[in-house]
Amino acid sequence: MTKLLIATNNKGKVEEIQDLLKELDIKLVTPADLGLKLNVVEDGKTYAENAEKKAVAFASASGLISLADDSGLEVDTLSGAPGLYSARYLPKPTATDADRRAYLLKNLQNKPRPWTAHFHAAIAIAGPGQPIQFAQGQCDGEIIPEERGTGGFGYDPIFFFPELGRTMAELDMDEKNRLSHRARAIINARPVLKKIFD
Ligand code: IMP
Repeated sequence: MTKLLIATNNKGKVEEIQDLLKELDIKLVTPADLGLKLNVVEDGKTYAENAEKKAVAFASASGLISLADDSGLEVDTLSGAPGLYSARYLPKPTATDADRRAYLLKNLQNKPRPWTAHFHAAIAIAGPGQPIQFAQGQCDGEIIPEERGTGGFGYDPIFFFPELGRTMAELDMDEKNRLSHRARAIINARPVLKKIFD
């Protein structure tokens, strides 16, 4: 069976993507499985550009078809920040997800609610002899001032779905993988993967 490399070191993302692709007859491998360590500079101007850089770098280092994502959280009242910089929002190398959530809430504290927000994801699939292919996904919600839930990662405990009355961190994997930006992008990428691997 041909392998697909999930080109990320983020464990939360790997688990979500593995779950979303489990129905396809493809063997998924991670950089850790291959002992592959690459540090790709994410300096693109769009999520798709960053995803493409990662997919191309991992495909050429491994010789495998590689799927990479780039994602971010955009808060309307902050003009779309942190956006492309979501993973590096706090300019401190040792900052944790919790530090970044606290920093975001500090920047929002004087802004009127609701703090409407959107997660965006772009997927790129690259491989030897393959044209690069893309898929996108988005999900809408709002940021709330207190953390709720223990699931997921990143900004999940403060990203609230008003229609569900729960945060992303209060969803189980099946629910997150029906609603999230990455799930939507991966679902859009499934026909592309089917075509490549058939
Ligand atoms: P990336 O690894 O460059 O795509 O970084 C995206 C950053 O956006 C992550 O480090 C998180 O801070 C945030 N992010 C992306 N997807 C999610 C998600 O599903 N839940 C919570 N935060 C996310």
